[in-house]
Amino acid sequence: MTKTNILGLSKTQLELLFDSIGESRFRATQVLKWIHQFGANDFVGMTNISQGLRVRLQELVEICEPKVIYQNDSRDGTRKWIIQVDGGNSVETVLIPDGKRSTLCVSSQVGCALNCSFCATGKQGFNRNLTAAEIIGQVRIAIKSFGSMHPSKPRRVTNVVLMGMGEPLLNFAAVTSAISLMLEDNAYNLSKRRVTLSTAGLVPAIDKLAEVSDVSLAISLHAANDKLRDQLVPLNRKYNIDVLIGACNRYLNRLNDKRVITMEYTMIDGINDQLDQAHELAGLLQRVPCKLNLIPFNPFSGSSYRCSPQPQIEAFQQVLRKAGIVTTIRATRGNDIDAACGQLVGQVQDRTQRTIRLASTN
Ligand code: SAH
Repeated sequence: MTKTNILGLSKTQLELLFDSIGESRFRATQVLKWIHQFGANDFVGMTNISQGLRVRLQELVEICEPKVIYQNDSRDGTRKWIIQVDGGNSVETVLIPDGKRSTLCVSSQVGCALNCSFCATGKQGFNRNLTAAEIIGQVRIAIKSFGSMHPSKPRRVTNVVLMGMGEPLLNFAAVTSAISLMLEDNAYNLSKRRVTLSTAGLVPAIDKLAEVSDVSLAISLHAANDKLRDQLVPLNRKYNIDVLIGACNRYLNRLNDKRVITMEYTMIDGINDQLDQAHELAGLLQRVPCKLNLIPFNPFSGSSYRCSPQPQIEAFQQVLRKAGIVTTIRATRGNDIDAACGQLVGQVQDRTQRTIRLASTN
């Protein structure tokens, strides 16, 4: 019998598990602390739990973390892990320190099915969704890699962004379970403002997210009109800019604090970086409370796109700033170890080709 891996179970799920074995629900809180605040890999050392229950848990369930197969530090302090999630597949996780802040960029899928034209992950195809354990496991691995996880030690992960490999909203259940552990007092205790989910714009799932979570939202926009966005982000053909802006406003309206959407815009030479496009973008962004993040395009092999020249990025920024949009240029970090945005590739055994073949032979 395979044991249930409880690493990715939310507090509610863990309470249900204790319910189902006739144990008190408050055990969930104790076990969560052991796993996520003290880094426990088994039940042996859980000293505030009776010996009998520890043995029972050891028989029934397990705490199983994905395996790190590679860790590397960039000259600028960025740290990257390659995490094997099964025989042929691995994903990447990156920690970007910046002053007092350390942002962990977490993957949600092995590969990505959306095939955005400027993203290396999309070019690899898609294999499968990560489990909640594999997603939260990345947070645990990152914190542990700096030594003890003990809550009295300084925090090594202050922010989490779901901006690694994959489209998080296409892996809704696992992603929302993992998010609930990031926010949970007895686990990682991060503020909802410091956890950001980034999406290419899966509109129905944005609405669904608003019902179960209140984390910050980032949108991969990259273009100010549908004609161009259809090319860069093919998902736009299904949910266009107008529909997407509507979903962003609905999401913000449901939050009970004042927050804005982070709009991400990768600067690609000659494609989306012209000043008339900056003006068009400024007009569009008046329609939703947001800040804009300009991301220099990071090249990868096989792509014919180039990064916009720095003066062009700055001129683009000026247009947006003059229009009253808070606009920052994201520093490229970790590119000496292939850890920058859009460079996360891991190893993906693509199954989409196969699916297409299977479909065409049916
Ligand atoms: N699927 C999600 C999360 C993954 S991509 C989403 O689309 O938001 C996260 C961000 O990586 C994207 O917004 C994009 O800005 C950035 N990105 C992807 N490829 C890039 C590249 N080659 N250079 C720079 N940024 C890139």
